[in-house]
Amino acid sequence: MSGSDGSIDGRQLHPESLMMSYGYRPEWSEGSVKSPIFQTSTFVFESAADGKRYFELAYGLDEPAEDERPGLIYSRLNNPDLEIAEDRLTLWDRAESCALFKSGMAAIATTLWSYLRPGDVVVASEPIYGGTHHLLQHVLPEFDIMPIRFGPSTTVEEVEAAVGGRRVGLVLIETPANPTNDLIDIAAWAVFAERHSTPDRKVPVAVDNTFLGPLFQRPLEHGADIVLYSATKYIGGHSDLIAGAALGSTEMLAPMRAMRTFMGTMTGPWTAWLLMRSLETLSIRMHRQAETAVRVADFLAQHPKVRRVHYLGHLEADDPQHELFKRQCLGPGAMISFEVDGGEKGAFRFLDELQLVKLAVSLGGTESLAEHPCTMTHAGATDEEKERIGITDGLIRLSVGVEHPDDIVLDLGRALNT
Ligand code: PLP
Repeated sequence: MSGSDGSIDGRQLHPESLMMSYGYRPEWSEGSVKSPIFQTSTFVFESAADGKRYFELAYGLDEPAEDERPGLIYSRLNNPDLEIAEDRLTLWDRAESCALFKSGMAAIATTLWSYLRPGDVVVASEPIYGGTHHLLQHVLPEFDIMPIRFGPSTTVEEVEAAVGGRRVGLVLIETPANPTNDLIDIAAWAVFAERHSTPDRKVPVAVDNTFLGPLFQRPLEHGADIVLYSATKYIGGHSDLIAGAALGSTEMLAPMRAMRTFMGTMTGPWTAWLLMRSLETLSIRMHRQAETAVRVADFLAQHPKVRRVHYLGHLEADDPQHELFKRQCLGPGAMISFEVDGGEKGAFRFLDELQLVKLAVSLGGTESLAEHPCTMTHAGATDEEKERIGITDGLIRLSVGVEHPDDIVLDLGRALNT
């Protein structure tokens, strides 16, 4: 077995090699190769003094001594399956700390409740996942937290003018953006956040890395403070669970961990265990999906009924997003959106003809999925917003799965030609 720090003879192993073992020792559980599911709500303290100490640490009443890990208390605060899955997730993003949540939305909402206060503005990119958009535009304003939105070509000066001296609570970026694959420059907005930070309050930059992460983009290396995931997507990878994750420094995650405890937005042991199962094949799945996506995007780009393909692997050298892609991303991933002829009617005809690719929302699973953002995932955006961010009537979002590439292309071609 590798050392508990994930190294052999002082050489650090790759995340792929550690997904089966990191953070767990078979001797803890009768030699079981896999961690058991700790399906329990509460944990027995060996003594009252232990219980007191565990609460001191969990509630931040005292600092842990070196090598002291918080003891297990109650599964809303901590649970071995969550802790092992969290430790494993940190390896991909090279993060100090991770917290798992009940869903991607729970991770995002808990981040917002942790860092925003009435009177603040939240500076957020667009387009953005429809659920996050609703939270920003319709829920936060009821708590006197106003969103200021920016796109890939909005200048920092324009956002500064919109802020107009109000307190910036948080910068929220989704890149690549769902569903158009627009890229946002994390480093540039980290400079903006820094300018609004004070010695006693850092304005965090939180990046939703669901589309490319954790294999093909590491936002913490570009100035982000918090990385967010819908772990329902690539991390879970089998379209059989709902979960979310947040990663960053221990300090940055501390208020979020506390908020998770009091709002009860943590995930359960069974889901955490399923995530461990999924993490073992994460790299294989994402690489295979990305490889197939090249073939699919090339096919779509030359098809006469396809007007436009949004795929990061097709960015031309003279496109301003190309330089950003090279600097910020490690690969184009497996999310493609494309416009078919005939608006909504043409899009629906195509979707209804698919046989192998499933007509369903969500993404990142082993099966290829296609949907119509305009009337499905992004139905809540106004017509004006949809027009501004490029969600047209004919736009299809495709998540490329692990099926044989020939079969995906066959199915797409048949549906387009019908
Ligand atoms: N972020 C992105 C980019 C998403 O696509 C989604 C869901 O589709 C979410 C967040 C929300 O995740 P969940 O459905 O796990 O709550």
